[in-house]
Amino acid sequence: MSHDCLFCKIIAGTIPANRVYEDEYCIGFPDINPQAPTHLLIIPKQHIASLAKADPEHKPLVGHLMSVATQIARSHKLDNGYRVVVNTGDHGGQTVHHLHLHLLGGRPMAWPPG
Ligand code: IMP
Repeated sequence: MSHDCLFCKIIAGTIPANRVYEDEYCIGFPDINPQAPTHLLIIPKQHIASLAKADPEHKPLVGHLMSVATQIARSHKLDNGYRVVVNTGDHGGQTVHHLHLHLLGGRPMAWPPG
């Protein structure tokens, strides 16, 4: 846990979030500023600052997060498709420095992203 990390505080329960998913390794909850009808964040319970900071030892965990994203997409009936985004670093648009997957769905997505 990193004491000045917003998402660590959500994991600890000191900042509230509606956990739509939880297991031993991660939680899923709605983004506070949704960019699509469904916009959930999936975050590991372990503090990893970004995808760029994930080590080879985190490979199973990163794979697990992807697998959970597909599981949640199914349970939210995103049958027409969805997008999984991992903003990484300044140029990647990352604002919260705790690894997270955005799961976006419920509308057609444009490409390229801004
Ligand atoms: P990033 O820009 O990829 O780092 O995404 C961080 C996301 O966290 C943004 O989409 C924010 O809207 C979201 N966010 C920030 N604070 C909270 C919160 O307290 N609860 C849920 N989502 C949050």
